[in-house]
Amino acid sequence: MPSDLTVTLAGIIIVVAVLGYWFGRSGEAAGRLNWRFREFLDGLPRRSEKAIDAYLREAEKEQRQPEAAFELAAYFRASGDWRRALQIHESLAARADLVAEARARAGLEIGDDYRCAGMLDRAGEAYARTAGYAPLRLKALRRRLGVCEQLQDWEQALRVAAQLAREAPEDGSRLRCHYLCQLAEERAQAGDSKQARKLWKQAAKESPSCPRPAVDRALLGGDSFGRGLAAAASHPEFAELILGRSGEKAGGSPETIERGLSMLLDGNPGLRPRLATALLMAPGLLCRSSAECLFGALREAHPAYAGTYAAGPPEAFASQSLNELRDEWRKTAGGMPRWRCADCGHEDETHAWRCMECGAWETARLISPFSA
Ligand SMILES: [Zn+2]
Repeated sequence: MPSDLTVTLAGIIIVVAVLGYWFGRSGEAAGRLNWRFREFLDGLPRRSEKAIDAYLREAEKEQRQPEAAFELAAYFRASGDWRRALQIHESLAARADLVAEARARAGLEIGDDYRCAGMLDRAGEAYARTAGYAPLRLKALRRRLGVCEQLQDWEQALRVAAQLAREAPEDGSRLRCHYLCQLAEERAQAGDSKQARKLWKQAAKESPSCPRPAVDRALLGGDSFGRGLAAAASHPEFAELILGRSGEKAGGSPETIERGLSMLLDGNPGLRPRLATALLMAPGLLCRSSAECLFGALREAHPAYAGTYAAGPPEAFASQSLNELRDEWRKTAGGMPRWRCADCGHEDETHAWRCMECGAWETARLISPFSA
């Protein structure tokens, strides 16, 4: 008679054996390939084109899953060899034995290869083809939009974003709003303010929650100083930007600036620190009211500077003092106001709706010496 212990042990051994067999079977092919893949990559610098082809053929035979080929292509692209990556992806896209998803994924990668090579038109075509495959449509459309943005082809971007809006309505409309504003900006810069205003109106309708049409109109629309101030009051998060530009519109007349700003502050006392920041960015805004705001902000956040620059009455504060303060703060790390991308950290002295480094929209945040 076997003892209880023997029976228990035998049971455990059987369970372990069954589990081992099951796991072994499912992981076998992938494991073998990964192991061979790593070994292959280690020797890559010494490999010839023929060896790579042979490896791919074998990987193809070994299993229907194209992972090894995707990995190899990714390796090539990352090391700057987009031609070989493209070659692999094209052969994958043409493989009739692959499931539709893998072929479509190869299509996306073909777009990325062309983008990597700087051949943006071809990248756009590859993404457009891939967008025909529903499960990858969103990804393909977003990447295609990235290409349009890089080419600054806003008309085309508008059309692609309309397709995106069918899949992701909020994103699509927000982007369409930006593209319409890009077109409006071009029109405004060409002096066609009538057409620009029409486009801003259309953009605001496209995405009512997007502040850009109103802010851009205040910045570029040729509106009066007074309208600019009104826009700053209704979009306080962009007040520094709008106020800075409004100063130029006042035609440099200190009386007009003083009158407008003191009225604005009476109705919107919360804008005082923002006006202080705006004055640092746009010295043209200097008047009694703005100097007062700057003094207040200095006393609160930088008492040491307040002693030097805010000693006398605001009306005695000269543009020379303002320039000295600006020069001083340019030298200090983190001194002058600047825009920082919330996504990638890229910094710039001028505001941009689209980060020129990472391409994200509406990520610029103002870093002011007066903000916590
Ligand atoms: Zn960025």
